[in-house]
Amino acid sequence: MRPNPPESPFQRRRTSAATAFSAHGLDSLLVTALSNIRYLTNFTGSNGALLLFREHAVLYTDPRYELQATEEADCPVKVARGPLWIAVRKDLNRKHLKRTGFEKGRITYEAYEALRGLDAGDPGLVPVGGIVEHLRMVKSEDEVGAIRRSVATASKAFHEAVKRIRPETTEKELAAELEYRMRRSGAEKPAFETIVASGRRTAFPHANPASGTIGRNRLVLIDMGASQNGYASDMTRMLFSGRPGAKLRRLYNSVLEAQLAAIAAVREGVTAGQVDRKARQVLGSYGLRDAFVHSTGHGLGLEIHEPPRIGRRDKTRLQAGMVITIEPGVYLEGFGGIRIEDTVLVTKTGCEVLTPTPKELILF
Ligand code: ZN
Ligand code: ZN
Repeated sequence: MRPNPPESPFQRRRTSAATAFSAHGLDSLLVTALSNIRYLTNFTGSNGALLLFREHAVLYTDPRYELQATEEADCPVKVARGPLWIAVRKDLNRKHLKRTGFEKGRITYEAYEALRGLDAGDPGLVPVGGIVEHLRMVKSEDEVGAIRRSVATASKAFHEAVKRIRPETTEKELAAELEYRMRRSGAEKPAFETIVASGRRTAFPHANPASGTIGRNRLVLIDMGASQNGYASDMTRMLFSGRPGAKLRRLYNSVLEAQLAAIAAVREGVTAGQVDRKARQVLGSYGLRDAFVHSTGHGLGLEIHEPPRIGRRDKTRLQAGMVITIEPGVYLEGFGGIRIEDTVLVTKTGCEVLTPTPKELILF
């Protein structure tokens, strides 16, 4: 008798997902989020659905991905010649499943209607949320390795691009330079649209790069990340084209102090809300509570925003192996905004800041 082949990490994840959906009283789970499909099968295509049973799984895709899916995934692949949902629905009806969970936040209404069907009876669809995302919160060693590489790529690109920045540089040129350099260093793409904002536009937390030049005596905010082997990184740094005045220095130091205080609070066992409160306390002590308009951070991995949210009301207890961002910021209308962001690995005794880029305000 031949020994069984060793279980793949994807098979192990599918087993964990099956335990989780069984606990919800489901006999199967239809996974439609591409990031969840990738996590559970290794399939990286842009069209797929995964039907997960307690003992096995079937990946549905279209003919464009037939070869890729059979090569990447370690579960049976079904190629649908028409819409995927029709093929999935036929199988659901044939198997007489009573309760199939579907990812309510990860499916279009059109797909949902097609799945419910009009003729063959109700396949017993149950809306669920976050089952696979919950499993994804704690990263494996391989995943942490991938995030480390993604972080290193983004920081290298930042270092190289910032050397070339002048007051005459436009926001768009700088964003293009950052993205080009990330790709040259191994990223397949930016993890999100690179944010470069200067002057008063830094007060928009998510500004799009504009075509104007940065100019002199301007604050510059760069928020960037790489997607490398599917894994995201995320960092924000600030620059200034001139000599910053006292108000700017004071604001910068307040945000830096808040960021360091939040990082110091990260440890296995504390809640995400406790970490958020640390940043908010520091900014509050400088009268900046109302200028901090977003949460302190978020998990990241196969997606740029994943649970847990490092927000006021989040009670998730941090666990070793989670990877999160710490990114407090203040935004003052007519003046500008300051944010400092690192990617951080939670450990048993504290955390490891993965981002190697120095945090001082960069002058040019
Ligand atoms: Zn960011
Ligand atoms: Zn972020």
